[in-house]
Amino acid sequence: MSFPTTNERQDDPVPQKRGWRGLIDAYRPYLPVTDSTPIVTLYEGNTPLIPVPSIAAEIGKKVEVFVKYDGLNPTGSFKDRGMTMAITKAKEEGAKAVICASTGNTSAAAAAYAKRGGLRAFVVIPDGYVALGKLAQALVYGAEVLAIRGNFDKALDIVREMGEHYPVTVVNSINPYRLEGQKTAAFEVVEDLGNAPDWLCIPVGNAGNITAYWMGFCQYHQLGKCDRLPKMMGFQAAGSAPIIAGHPIEHPETVATAIRIGNPANWQKALAVGEASQGEFNPVTDEEILHAYRLLGREGVFCEPASAASVAGLLKVKDRVPTGATIVCVLTGNGLKDPDSAIEHSETQLRQGIEPDLEAVAQVMGF
Ligand SMILES: *Cc1c(COP(=O)(O)O)cnc(C)c1O
Repeated sequence: MSFPTTNERQDDPVPQKRGWRGLIDAYRPYLPVTDSTPIVTLYEGNTPLIPVPSIAAEIGKKVEVFVKYDGLNPTGSFKDRGMTMAITKAKEEGAKAVICASTGNTSAAAAAYAKRGGLRAFVVIPDGYVALGKLAQALVYGAEVLAIRGNFDKALDIVREMGEHYPVTVVNSINPYRLEGQKTAAFEVVEDLGNAPDWLCIPVGNAGNITAYWMGFCQYHQLGKCDRLPKMMGFQAAGSAPIIAGHPIEHPETVATAIRIGNPANWQKALAVGEASQGEFNPVTDEEILHAYRLLGREGVFCEPASAASVAGLLKVKDRVPTGATIVCVLTGNGLKDPDSAIEHSETQLRQGIEPDLEAVAQVMGF
């Protein structure tokens, strides 16, 4: 038996991850920064693309399915990709404060990056509809949290106006730098697969992320880094599916609070992406979302309910998946963000009140 010698090991390619200093550093030529731009980063990006064979098996034909686990970013969601850019540019332009409306993850990311960059962070959230972990984050990072008695869409209306009348920079996905940062997720997918996937399945709320992924794929395609473009498959929660209904939803409802949005900010862009990529928008019910959420959990991947909409959607339209396809489902946020949903919707029972002795424990275990 022979083990590699020290010399042989030195010939191994250096893993790209080593020395990773965030996505602006990694993708500088493709982003609107200069040498003097003050980069605000938490070393976000470079998240894993994980194969999920048990989900592929559910499709019923030969396909490869991966999840892009963006819940592993510093604040636990893909919002960090956009926020490193948005806060960096706000700082470069001399802003002293930023503001966002949020269902939770944008506020967590805005708070973390703004405070790190030395700016004030105001976040406007719908009272009672933000998952516990996200609220905890905004408070710990030091944001000034304003909970309004209204939903996300109302919060965004207020924030847009604040940006027009007061000296605060809006960092919702109407901020173009957000999309620039978020497009890097598509770069990473292409680098990991060696090409673009056939399908990209993604949850859709304000539709910034689907727009950003498409920008990223198109840019890499133009540069010759991939020789095809994916079909963009967007999924909305059935109780909150304005793009599919064709009109705003006044009272959106879903367990997937991160996509509980009735009037998407990037609606027109999303329609353009759907058309250009010959993609589709489809609804998934809360039941389908939670089913996918549990399937992923059993693969060891804990995402938040909104993220599971991408996998729920894939399973819903599995009859239309071409044989041999490579599919990437985007998992936008970390499951730890929303412990209440996790406990409420888990099928696994917590067995409580067991006597603290070997026999009692063994008995409960079925021995
Ligand atoms: C923000 C968010 C979404 C929706 O992304 P959009 O860009 O608004 O479409 C989906 N899932 C999670 C976890 C999010 O935080």
